Amino acid sequence: MDPLTQVPVLSKGVNKSKPDPDLDADVYMRFMLNHCCYDTIPTSSKLVIFDTTLRVKTAFIALVANGLRAAPLWDSKRQCFVGMLTITDFIIILHRYYKSPMVQIYGLEEHRIETWREVYLQYSNSLISLTPDSSLFDAVYALLKYKIHRLPVIDPESGNVLHIMTHKRILNYLHLFGAMIPKPRFLQKKIGEAAIGTFHNIAMVQETDTVYKALSIFVERRVSALPVVNKKRKVVGLYSRFDVINLAAQKSYNNLDITMREALQGRVCWVEGVIKCYPHETVGIIIDRFIEAKVHRLVLVDKEDVVRGIVSLSDLLQAMVLSPAGIDALLS
Ligand code: ADP
Ligand code: ADP
Ligand code: AMP
Repeated sequence: MDPLTQVPVLSKGVNKSKPDPDLDADVYMRFMLNHCCYDTIPTSSKLVIFDTTLRVKTAFIALVANGLRAAPLWDSKRQCFVGMLTITDFIIILHRYYKSPMVQIYGLEEHRIETWREVYLQYSNSLISLTPDSSLFDAVYALLKYKIHRLPVIDPESGNVLHIMTHKRILNYLHLFGAMIPKPRFLQKKIGEAAIGTFHNIAMVQETDTVYKALSIFVERRVSALPVVNKKRKVVGLYSRFDVINLAAQKSYNNLDITMREALQGRVCWVEGVIKCYPHETVGIIIDRFIEAKVHRLVLVDKEDVVRGIVSLSDLLQAMVLSPAGIDALLS
């Protein structure tokens, strides 16, 4: 099978001149259609790549050592990039092979990345990538459609990875360079009315639940973070997939029976408190909070701090960029 899935160029089919029924709601969509991935690439940045013969444990410890969240995978036999290694893969390995605090995690100790990929290829069997001239619209579409958080931008001529595109980078780029575009009226809508987010069947954990339970929910529901709640369903913390890397940083992955409370206290680098939002707050306020807090989601709560929903960058980009084009990539 071809190891590369180039994201389909959707932007060509989007009618830029279509009169917008909601007047100015499509300004962000047009901005994303008119800017390409190349525009967002920093002039210099560090990129760490893993050879697929590397042991998975070494790879995750190297992610921690380099302060990274993911790395492209290079297959030296095929001389091409074949996938990404992310914290989600670390979570899947821990969850699959964990037995008890007394037993070493076989998959983590023994597997090379290539062996692991053979075991788990049905999860993600080809690299989804962009080219520097892919539009930001296509980048948003791919992130949401494939439910991934890292999209390498690959130079078609050299085959080099130039950059890793993420939801945060796209929103930050819009914030920095979209300042001149007129502010659409939908920024004044209340988040509850605009229906941006997930409001039912929220995946959560109790403070007394184990880390293993949180990992099970990450694997089964494929959600990116879990509000941590007390007995009254009030939010007291936020445990994201990123936080699981602390287990590699502290080499404490052999005991996944610790509670969420202990796991939250043991984080090396974390965001103070829980970054929340309220149904009466406007979309504009929410966007500013995302930019300022540099997080991937806000927990929607009521006056009592009881969890009512999740507003993720995926939901925001769906509403700002894809909905005006009549596309719902979050469906299914
Ligand atoms: P995280 O939120 O932990 O960074 P992702 O949501 O990006 O993880 O990844 C989910 C799964 O999809 C992982 O198994 C990862 O290896 C895979 N994956 C991530 N990005 C890509 C990509 N661009 N192409 C193919 N698979 C990917
Ligand atoms: P990324 O998507 O860049 O991998 P995340 O935003 O998921 O990262 O997480 C980065 C850090 O911010 C983690 O320590 C996580 O617990 C924290 N974090 C994320 N969202 C929130 C939030 N709404 N409130 C508090 N902390 C958060
Ligand atoms: P994300 O993976 O954060 O980009 O979000 C993808 C989708 O999952 C969005 O529609 C989010 O609202 C939703 N989502 C994220 N976290 C949760 C959660 N804990 N429970 C339910 N839905 C969630």
